[in-house]
Amino acid sequence: MVEKQEVIIVGGGVAGLSAAYTLAKAGVQVMLLERGLNSGTKNVMGGVLYSHMMNEIIPEFWKEAPVERRIVEQRMWLMGKESATQAGYKDLSWNKPPYNNFTVLRSKFDQWFAKKCTDAGVLIVNETLVTDCIIKENKVVGVRTNRPDGDLYADVVVLADGVNSLLSKKLGFHKELKANQVAIAVMELIKLPAEKIEDRFNLDKETGATIEVYGEATKNMMGTSFIYTNKEHISIGCGTLLSALSKSKIKPYELLESFKQNPLVRPLISGGESSEYYAHLIPEGGYNSIPRLAGDGVLVIGDAAQLVNGIHREGSNMAMTSGRLAAETILQARRLGEYDERALSVYKSMLNGSYVLNDMRKYKNTVHVMENNPAYFNFYLPAVSQAIKELLNVDGKTKREKQWIILKQFFKGRSKLKAIWEFIKLGKAML
Ligand SMILES: Cc1cc2nc3c(=O)[nH]c(=O)nc-3n(C[C@H](O)[C@H](O)[C@H](O)COP(=O)(O)OP(=O)(O)OC[C@H]3O[C@@H](n4cnc5c(N)ncnc54)[C@H](O)[C@@H]3O)c2cc1C
Repeated sequence: MVEKQEVIIVGGGVAGLSAAYTLAKAGVQVMLLERGLNSGTKNVMGGVLYSHMMNEIIPEFWKEAPVERRIVEQRMWLMGKESATQAGYKDLSWNKPPYNNFTVLRSKFDQWFAKKCTDAGVLIVNETLVTDCIIKENKVVGVRTNRPDGDLYADVVVLADGVNSLLSKKLGFHKELKANQVAIAVMELIKLPAEKIEDRFNLDKETGATIEVYGEATKNMMGTSFIYTNKEHISIGCGTLLSALSKSKIKPYELLESFKQNPLVRPLISGGESSEYYAHLIPEGGYNSIPRLAGDGVLVIGDAAQLVNGIHREGSNMAMTSGRLAAETILQARRLGEYDERALSVYKSMLNGSYVLNDMRKYKNTVHVMENNPAYFNFYLPAVSQAIKELLNVDGKTKREKQWIILKQFFKGRSKLKAIWEFIKLGKAML
């Protein structure tokens, strides 16, 4: 191994690969260390990858990247035991370049992205676990790996080591993550012929649909379930805040099994063959959980920086943008020949000026407001379903009677003032 690099990146997910590619294209010497067999083996995602952010890194990537389907329809279900209130948006302009988003299988996509990095000049070393950052005079100067010749040095180390980021924790950038700062997600890939998927979801060849499902899908706990279409697979999964799940005593696989068995979901996957099963954490602590992002000789990006907007199911885009902005910061620092915290803090200013920290700030209280009051999920969501059912049931009651029944349901067992206050609080946290 070469002993001193300009930049070492730890972690070959989309954040690390985005940083590596941007740097290598600008002529910087980069080494990327990945603990897995190769990029993609340790990476889990429901599968929606955002075109705009990837296009900023590799223009027109869709012409050669292994994408699954172009998403033209996004649906939302508020699910009960045998009902679903549905909303959706279909847009065929999303089937034309530059597209809106794609489903991808990370095992294929990340491998392709890693190959693009190698072609651009990045030295990727797989099956290498970084165990520590090497610190000299309070500055990160390299990394220690589990290899016999394991110490490697660089001007800057970029930590893209995912949600737990043990390395930034060791640097004191964040504390042990709490159960209310992460969601536990389980997902399965179910193999089905392309024509079946197209029939069941009303799709043309190569176009796709997503369904985000709330309510009974997560047993009315705070979280979301999802069904996404790939070429010849359905991705189906559930994610709930770890704190809520542990209180409920429900096991993650039981939640997914119950979702798959729901009579509204079963026909979409019936006859399919389970081909992969994954479990992974998602950072959901929001803005208040973002760790220190820059230090002397070090930057933190992607899930390691807790950059996920759980309200909008956005994580891969923030990982790619933070990777690109970290690379642009390093390029500026390189011109100055300075890699101290002051020079690298430009990264935080760039994130601040972008959608990443603006969106994270916008929703900074949302998760906490919802988490502190389970009624939003276990009382109001079922009440909305019940209200729609009441409204649509033609049963001889007058519409005025129905209005009263619906209002009574919403205030059942709670003071009107409390209910109104709960809505104001949620509205304030969302808007
Ligand atoms: C079930 C699920 C569904 C999701 N769905 C979506 C979605 O539809 N759309 C979306 O945008 N986002 C989604 N996300 C979030 C998205 O997957 C993440 O935000 C994104 O993958 C973050 O990329 P990353 O590169 O920061 O981290 P990761 O992809 O986790 O990569 C981190 C890498 O670092 C490596 N690593 C860790 N420690 C070390 C070490 N010490 N030494 C060497 N290597 C190390 C790991 O092996 C891994 O390859 C989902 C997440 C989950 C779990």
